[in-house]
Amino acid sequence: MYLDHFVAQNYRNLKNIDINFDPNVNIFIGKNAQGKTNLLEAIYFLALTRSHRTSSDKELIAFGKDYANLMGHVHKSQVNSDLRVLITKKGKKVWVNRVEQAKVSKYIGQLNAILFSPEDLELIKGAPALRRRFMDQEFGQINPEYLYFASKYRQVLFQRNNYLKQLAKGEAHDLVFLDVLSDQLAGIAAEIVVRRFKFLNYLSRFASDAYTHISSADEVLTVTYHPSVVDIKATDSTEDIYHKVLANYKRSKNNEIRKGTTLSGPHRDDIEFKLDGKDAHLYGSQGQQRTIALSIKLAEIQLVHQLTDEYPLLLLDDVMSELDHSRQSALLNYIHGKTQTFITTTDLEGISWEIIKQPKIYRIQ
Ligand code: ATP
Ligand code: MG
Repeated sequence: MYLDHFVAQNYRNLKNIDINFDPNVNIFIGKNAQGKTNLLEAIYFLALTRSHRTSSDKELIAFGKDYANLMGHVHKSQVNSDLRVLITKKGKKVWVNRVEQAKVSKYIGQLNAILFSPEDLELIKGAPALRRRFMDQEFGQINPEYLYFASKYRQVLFQRNNYLKQLAKGEAHDLVFLDVLSDQLAGIAAEIVVRRFKFLNYLSRFASDAYTHISSADEVLTVTYHPSVVDIKATDSTEDIYHKVLANYKRSKNNEIRKGTTLSGPHRDDIEFKLDGKDAHLYGSQGQQRTIALSIKLAEIQLVHQLTDEYPLLLLDDVMSELDHSRQSALLNYIHGKTQTFITTTDLEGISWEIIKQPKIYRIQ
């Protein structure tokens, strides 16, 4: 898929832009603080109706304005579509082919985009919450059911935690109601866990390939999913997982009531990255960690392709200058001709662009 026509109005410092992108490679060059990242963020927002930088949509509206408007025309092998997102201070609205969509889940997936920026290093270095957000965000855009279960899980978890707090304070006493909530949450948890296993399994294979390609080293990258309910196995069925999660709630019931919170489930899961069997979080060099993060993003491109038959857009923010020459070339080589790519940089010098035949270059000022 690719985005050809793109409009952004009152989006951060982008007052009114109207661009026809190249289906292959688009390079945005500009000094600091000119709006390069804003432009990538706007494209990403059009795809996912959320920013990678903030969870507060209000920040995205240009200072002194009441709304921000994004529009794009997406080409796919079967159908094309017109997308629109309007962000106001009260909330956002989305349209597909000029028809307003009441549910965002009907909108997500029309345009897929994978964004990579230096902060993604945190995916390896940072706290487990970041890796869970990564799964929810990325698996949600390729699998509407995942999106649905992840949002349902948040609702029921919130409800169960509230109820556990009431039990802890002695404001509630009905343990049968707790069992009802546990049963409901275990059912949804199983749907999420089974999908995390499936998608991470694909992702692991693709990421190992990408890592080998980019680093040209002998190390082997493995990506493993760690569900917080420890006895769950990759070969378990949804039903098995449901029973194990539920049994775990039963075992830790008293502890959960005392602490007033749900102690296990998808909201406590993690992913582990290993190079030659050693935890990259603890032992990886900065360059290795960056290459792992990049490999994960490249693996996602393959994953989206595998599941939708379309390659997503790839948005690379300030990435080239952080890679050495051989890794830059390997990266450009890996993506060339497959995905529509958007690259920001402050300088064209020093980067091995020769692999890209005819990029479209924009100066951002
Ligand atoms: P760098 O090379 O430093 O990464 P950049 O070109 O990527 O720079 P951006 O982050 O895209 O820069 O843009 C930053 C500019 O956008 C800043 O000048 C900032 O003040 C401005 N900006 C951010 N939010 C808004 C907003 N809501 N309204 C208007 N301008 C904004
Ligand atoms: Mg930037």
